[in-house]
Amino acid sequence: LLPLGAFIAAFAIGLVVWLSRRRLSPLRELQIAVRKREFIVHYQPIVELRTGRCIGAEALVRWRRPDGSLVRPDLFIPLAEESGLIAAITDQVVAHVVLDLNRLLVANRSLHIAVNLSPADVETARILPVIEKALQHTGIRPRQIWLEATERGFVNIDSARSTLIRARELGHAVAIDDFGTGYSSLSHLEGLPLDALKIDKSFIDTIATNSATSSVTPHIIDMAKTLKLKIVAEGVETQAQADYLLERDVDYGQGWLFAKPMPAAEFIAYCRRMKPS
Ligand code: C2E
Ligand code: CA
Ligand code: CA
Ligand code: CA
Repeated sequence: LLPLGAFIAAFAIGLVVWLSRRRLSPLRELQIAVRKREFIVHYQPIVELRTGRCIGAEALVRWRRPDGSLVRPDLFIPLAEESGLIAAITDQVVAHVVLDLNRLLVANRSLHIAVNLSPADVETARILPVIEKALQHTGIRPRQIWLEATERGFVNIDSARSTLIRARELGHAVAIDDFGTGYSSLSHLEGLPLDALKIDKSFIDTIATNSATSSVTPHIIDMAKTLKLKIVAEGVETQAQADYLLERDVDYGQGWLFAKPMPAAEFIAYCRRMKPS
């Protein structure tokens, strides 16, 4: 009897150990992370190229694992989009922006925070009442929240358009993200209610130190100008790139030349040092 009891006990312990060590599927892990609210936001300053003043920041999500490590968004956003978990993650980003920066945004009315929306967020418009509710009882004004939408992956351009129209009615500014990469076509964009275009880093990368640039980048800038929208250049890493963009009247820049994405507390300290516009 004793050996059998010992065997059963050993088996039970083994089973528990095996279950706890078994690697969860990436989807299961992400579901748990959503439930445990493991997402935080870093902020990357956006500066006015002409004056060097900070006009705000882009909110960039990170997954903070229980061990403290941070997972980059490109490693989990695609799975989040496929699985529909993205909606809950976008909600957590909005909640963080309000919690992290309420005081800063109330003290500096000219500052804005840009929030990334996935195609599903834009198509369903579900996010708009979420933002409205999050801003209630804060001093943050809707125009201080910019929404960044990509054209990538839109299934229903009509519902996307009506969400963006509604967003602007509510007072938000709308920017097209990753402008120039593949899906953007001028005819497509002309029908959309927009305030700004973000030129993708891949185009800024081609601006060489001697300003001899690939032939595409000036056309991308011209296209943005034709649409009479504010332009944000992303991934600006060198002074030569900033000079080139300034010469071509690009309004805003974002990139390591100015600052890397940083935790909220650091961004607040950065704004204090920079005296925002
Ligand atoms: P994105 O919207 O194009 O964001 C810009 C990315 O470029 C960020 O990467 C930023 O850290 C990086 N970056 C900015 N300046 C420089 C630079 O000078 N040099 C280099 N090498 N990189 C620079 P990050 O934070 O890893 O985000 C990657 C992508 O993940 C974002 O690309 C965006 O598409 C997505 N993402 C980030 N946060 C969110 C979010 O809250 N929701 C959704 N749906 N997507 C998000
Ligand atoms: Ca973005
Ligand atoms: Ca972008
Ligand atoms: Ca990009």
